[in-house]
Amino acid sequence: MSSYAPPVQRLVTELSKLPGIGTRTAQRLAFHILRAPDSDALGLADAIREVKERIGLCEVCFNLTDQPRCRICEDPRRDHSLICVVEEPGDVIPMERMHEYSGVYHVLGGALSPIDGVDPEDLRIAELYVRVAGAGDEPAVREVVLATNPTTTGEATALHIAHELGRRAPDVTVTRLASGLPVGSDLEYADEVTLGKAFAGRRSL
Ligand SMILES: [Zn+2]
Repeated sequence: MSSYAPPVQRLVTELSKLPGIGTRTAQRLAFHILRAPDSDALGLADAIREVKERIGLCEVCFNLTDQPRCRICEDPRRDHSLICVVEEPGDVIPMERMHEYSGVYHVLGGALSPIDGVDPEDLRIAELYVRVAGAGDEPAVREVVLATNPTTTGEATALHIAHELGRRAPDVTVTRLASGLPVGSDLEYADEVTLGKAFAGRRSL
């Protein structure tokens, strides 16, 4: 049993739910927060509350936004006929950092993994097909770039979507980022030079 006062134990328990944070680190963070000035500690609490209250998913691409549509979807200078498909909202950031991509995005919300019970209907794949089919006020889609992670699940997801798009929308070019990204890693951690090369060298599927 814990010898901490219940509120301290609660904080340790909540912090240890964060990815990469074990019990020891959670304890260290909890004591740091306890020592911190009230303004810093409550600022952290407020920031967490605010993102949970104000940030939702874009109704078009499912990226994070505090509006119905994200800034990228709302930007008329972006090429809305080019859609880059990524797994998570965090994957949009390295693509944007590269400054070479001028299209829009589609965030799947994960990757296919039958072992973990993640099937196509658990991701925003059907919504991608609707966009490609030209529903709504978006212009016709010319190319879909599959930028899922170079992992087993990311590759499986890219192949599944490429196959379905080939059947449903044979006129749309479907490409995959070139190899060169470290295999088994997440797009999120790719540097912009590597990602830029992978994007420039993307190949048709
Ligand atoms: Zn959007």
